[in-house]
Amino acid sequence: MNIIMLGAPGTGKGTIAGILSGELGIPQISTGDIFRKNIKEGTELGKLADSYISKGQLVPDDVTIKIVEDRLNQPDAKNGVILDGFPRTVVQADKLKEILANKGEKVDITINLVTPEEELIERIVNRRVCSNQECKAVYNLVLHPPKVEGKCDKCGSELITRKDDNVETVKSRLEQYFTATSPLVEYYEKEGVLYTETVSQSINKLGEVVAKEILEHLKEI
Ligand code: AMP
Repeated sequence: MNIIMLGAPGTGKGTIAGILSGELGIPQISTGDIFRKNIKEGTELGKLADSYISKGQLVPDDVTIKIVEDRLNQPDAKNGVILDGFPRTVVQADKLKEILANKGEKVDITINLVTPEEELIERIVNRRVCSNQECKAVYNLVLHPPKVEGKCDKCGSELITRKDDNVETVKSRLEQYFTATSPLVEYYEKEGVLYTETVSQSINKLGEVVAKEILEHLKEI
């Protein structure tokens, strides 16, 4: 099953994708994580990606598509994937359709996460992530704090703030979402594969609760 996680930054795509990946036994492919790994390792791709990510801009389509295409050809992707943060533009969505069609596959479901805008910035600036690339657990200082300050509950590694999780960059990332990415809601609705979930503390519906609902829904399709 090929699943897309769609939603503005801060909606919880990564957290929910992680839970779904564990439950369904298919890999979570996060383009953001792939870029961050390359930035950390100082590769050419990392340098290029950083010049966009640090400004809150999207990495160019051709670069991003190539990474996903290569990743989809890895053996562990043969039973389906959870794409977390891809596609983010209509060009990427069209190309993904073509790549999957060439393998006799399709997007089976696009999970569209919706969070009230006023919650998004707060969630992003309070986000802390595990520095251990193998763990990558995500915390929120207010909604889901770690048991020991600054340390990951799961592996004990140091928690860090993502470089692009600051108020200035977030505004630009949200703008990019509303201009370049949000047309994908209609795109996948027309394809008949859109499933929308609200993620909001105001209705007590955060990551784990939403992931459970999604898993229930997946049993029906
Ligand atoms: P994320 O971890 O998904 O929030 O991604 C972090 C940053 O990586 C984004 O703000 C973009 O700059 C870049 N990025 C991630 N995925 C994509 C994509 N599909 N297309 C273009 N840029 C991306």
